Amino acid sequence: MKQKLSNRINAMATSATLAMAAKARELRNQGKDIIGLSLGEPDFPVPDFVKEAAKKAIDENYHSYTPVDGYADLKQAIITKFKRDNNLTYTPEQIVVSTGAKQSLANLAMVLLNEGDEVLLPAPYWVSYSDISKLAGGVPVEIPTSIETDFKITPQALEAAITPKTKMMIYSSPCNPSGSVYTQEELRVLADVLAKYPDIIVVSDEIYEHINFTKNHASIATFADMYDRTVVVNGVSKAYSMTGWRIGYIGAPAYIARACTKMQGQITSGANCIAQRATITALENPPSKIQFMVDAFKERRKLILNLLAEIPGFKTNEPQGAFYVFPDVSSFFGKTLNGTLINNASQFAMYLLEKAQVATVTGEAFGSPNCIRISYAASEKDIVEALKRIKKTVT
Ligand code: PMP
Ligand code: GLU
Repeated sequence: MKQKLSNRINAMATSATLAMAAKARELRNQGKDIIGLSLGEPDFPVPDFVKEAAKKAIDENYHSYTPVDGYADLKQAIITKFKRDNNLTYTPEQIVVSTGAKQSLANLAMVLLNEGDEVLLPAPYWVSYSDISKLAGGVPVEIPTSIETDFKITPQALEAAITPKTKMMIYSSPCNPSGSVYTQEELRVLADVLAKYPDIIVVSDEIYEHINFTKNHASIATFADMYDRTVVVNGVSKAYSMTGWRIGYIGAPAYIARACTKMQGQITSGANCIAQRATITALENPPSKIQFMVDAFKERRKLILNLLAEIPGFKTNEPQGAFYVFPDVSSFFGKTLNGTLINNASQFAMYLLEKAQVATVTGEAFGSPNCIRISYAASEKDIVEALKRIKKTVT
């Protein structure tokens, strides 16, 4: 039946994060006691003030199609948020609300890339950047990094990866999966390289903005020379624990925003109306309202780093944001663990799933084949038990 499907979908990889979560779910349904540390999804409930806003929207009979690019008052709340949190100034025609930041990214790839255009992806990168780019005809160009440089690219590496075909660069800071956070100074040095190549558009994915333990979030869009060529992607999935509500948004040059609106006008007609109303309330509240979640993630980071330090063979940096650790596990490659030969990170992640019953994600999906990603957006009890099991199966 595969031959009946388009080349487009046949060429696409399944999302590794969602695939691992589905596998964990399937094993759990078979009665296995799987601890899921694969999905990057806060385990907190949606804050009550957001829930109340959604209930009110239902009671007020919000039900119809919204403007394709989002309700005008939501766009205003986004503009106020960009000013308050990032000192970025946008007008309504620069804002587009979408069905999750994932759709914002897909829109951008579809409206910006032509066949053969190269997309720079500092690796490790979030799993979907690569396949979304390919779907739109783009060619991902990875810029490798390693744990030694805290998984950050150097200006030299950036410049070396640029060719006349480079159209776009996509990265996240705080980074999924490494947790690395670029400082203002580091971004300035990268911007100095990009200044020489004015046609490259930068997509700055800032969805983990608030889950930043350095408390200093920097956006490359704040540099005057980058503003007109940067698209900031953000959303409420992570900060407000609203993953299933599916709201993301962009702040972009107006011509890009108009193109994204045109794209989603043909594809989704706009995002869910109730979730949009609730997002207004979420964004109107100050980030201090969600600080308790950030504090909890910080505690869990300490816990998981301490537990990982006790397991020989896991080399880990200290992630400064998001809720992932991304240990280098290459010391296990070529070794036999309890009768299973481990050749790469995918086999290692499978081994952990089967033998320790802990779901993680292979670094191969993020362009870093020496690593695995472990999400600590889980309860302390699950983190402790998972790491106990991992330790037992690898030592
Ligand atoms: N970017 C990054 C870096 C992410 O981790 C995620 C998580 N799903 C997304 C984008 C997409 O988020 P959303 O739920 O808003 O589609
Ligand atoms: N962003 C999350 C992750 O990386 C959710 C899964 C997804 O959207 O792919 O695990």
